[in-house]
Amino acid sequence: MSHTIAVGAIFIECNHLGGLPTEVEHFEQCELLRGEQVTELRNGNVGGMLDALDAATENGSQINIAPLLYASCCARGPLTAGCYATLKQEFLDRLEAVLPVDAVLLPLHGSAAAESAGDLEGDLITSIRKLVGPQTPIVGTLDLHAHVTEEMVRGADALLGLETYPHVDWYATGQRAAQLVLEMLAGRVRPTMALAKVPVVVSAIYGNTAGDGPFADVMRFAKSLELQEDVLSTSAFLVHPYLDLPGMGGGGLVVTDDDLPAAMEQSRKIAMQYWNCRNALEPPLHTPEDAVREGLSVDGGPIVLIETADCCGGGAAGDSVASLKALLSVGVDQLSLVPVVDPAAAAACHQAGVGSQVTFDLGHQLDPQWGTPLAVSGTVLRLGDGHFTFNGGAWDGRPGEMGPSAVLEVGAVQILITSLPSYDWTDEQFQAMQMDYRGAKFVVAKNPMNYRQVYTDLAARILFLNTPGPTPPTLRFTQFQHLQRPYFPADSSIPDLEPTILH
Ligand SMILES: [Zn+2]
Repeated sequence: MSHTIAVGAIFIECNHLGGLPTEVEHFEQCELLRGEQVTELRNGNVGGMLDALDAATENGSQINIAPLLYASCCARGPLTAGCYATLKQEFLDRLEAVLPVDAVLLPLHGSAAAESAGDLEGDLITSIRKLVGPQTPIVGTLDLHAHVTEEMVRGADALLGLETYPHVDWYATGQRAAQLVLEMLAGRVRPTMALAKVPVVVSAIYGNTAGDGPFADVMRFAKSLELQEDVLSTSAFLVHPYLDLPGMGGGGLVVTDDDLPAAMEQSRKIAMQYWNCRNALEPPLHTPEDAVREGLSVDGGPIVLIETADCCGGGAAGDSVASLKALLSVGVDQLSLVPVVDPAAAAACHQAGVGSQVTFDLGHQLDPQWGTPLAVSGTVLRLGDGHFTFNGGAWDGRPGEMGPSAVLEVGAVQILITSLPSYDWTDEQFQAMQMDYRGAKFVVAKNPMNYRQVYTDLAARILFLNTPGPTPPTLRFTQFQHLQRPYFPADSSIPDLEPTILH
C-alpha cells in the first residue's frame, strides 16, 4: 500500500523584545524552497525526515513524498502580517494541490511569531488540520526553545523536541518524526500527548544538555522516561525567552501510545524537575568594564566575553558596541576580537580599501534603542564578501551570509564589521575573515551557548556580560507586555506552584 506524506514548514525563531521585522526577502536571503527544491535538502531536520522516508521505501514501503514549501531564516523580529499571509497561503495552496495525503510532517522551530499570529505554529497547524481533516496524522519537530502552546498540542498528533543544546541533532530529530509517522501509518501506534509547563523564563546560558548542568539533568531525566512501556517520545523545553506572549515557560512534553493519563503524569514530572532547578539557571553577571579588568588579571587567554544580549541567533541585530567600548576604554593592548554588524561602516571600509585609515561612528545603527554609536578610527586590515558555509546546526552544509565585511584594527582590537546579522554556529564568521582567536587576549562571543563548541577547551576564563539588548542574559528585569507575573526569575518563589498541563 502506498502512502503520500507532505513535508514543509515555516521555520524561524522570533524576538518580540527588539528584533527587526521579518519580510519574505529575509527568507529569500536565507532559504525559501518550493516543491522539488525541498527534496534536495539532505541535512538538518528536513534531511532527516526525507532520508527516513526514502529508507522506508527502500525497505519495501511505498512512500510518496509531497514537498510543499520550506522557508527558514535566522532569528529576527516577528513576520510582518503581509509576509506571514504570503507564506501561509502558498504553503496551504501547495498542500491543497496534493490532497489527499496520508500524513503531514512539519519541520518547525516552535518559537515563530507573526504580527498577525503570536503563535505562528499553532495557527499554521490549525489551518493544516482544517484542510487534511481530523484523522490524518500531523507530526512536527521542535527546537527545545519552542514556546509550545495549547493550539499546537491540540492540532498535532505528536511533537518531538530536540534532545541537544548546542543543537547537534536536527537530522536525528527529523528521522524520529518520520519514523513515528511510518509507525502510525502501519497502524502500530496511536500517539497521544500532554505538555506540562512551569513559568520559568531564563536565558540559554545554562541550557546545555551535555556534561554537567541543571538542564542537562532535566533532559537526562526526560529521556530516561522513554524507557517506560508505551512512552513513544519525551521532550524537555527551555522556551525561547525573548518572545512576549501569555503562558510562556518550560517543561516537558510526553507522547504515549494512547495513554493520556501517563502522558500527563510523566510530563508533569519533567516540568517539576525543571521548576526545582530554576535558581541554577540564572548566570552570574559582570559589567563589561569589570569583566575586562578581571580578564586582565588572569594570565594568558583567551578571555571569552559573552555578550549574549546582542545574539543574532536569538533575534538581535548584532550591532552592539558595549563590549568594544569596554575594551577600548580600559585600554587593552593585546590582540582582541569583537564582531559588530554595521552595513554603513562595512561599506565605508570597502570604499576606502585595505590599508586605509577610516573614521566613523560604529554600532547601534540597525536597532538603536540599546546604546549609542562609538566613534572609531582605525586601519582596514582585510575585506571580504561575507559568504561562508555552516559546518553544523540547523543549516548544516548550507550557505551563510554576512554581506560585505571588513576587519578593522583599532589599536590592539580587531573588529569584524559585517553588513548582515548571521547565526553563530561555531567560528564560521571569524574563519571566513581569517581572524585567529587562538592568540587573542579577549574574544567577544555574542551567543549564550554555541560559543562552547569553540572556546570551552581553549578559554582561560569565560565571563557573562550584563549589557542592554533584546536577548539579555536574564529576564528578571524585562518589562513584558503579555507574559503575566508571576514568573521566574522576576518572582523567585511562587507558593503552591502546579504545572499547567495541556493536551
Ligand atoms: Zn534553540
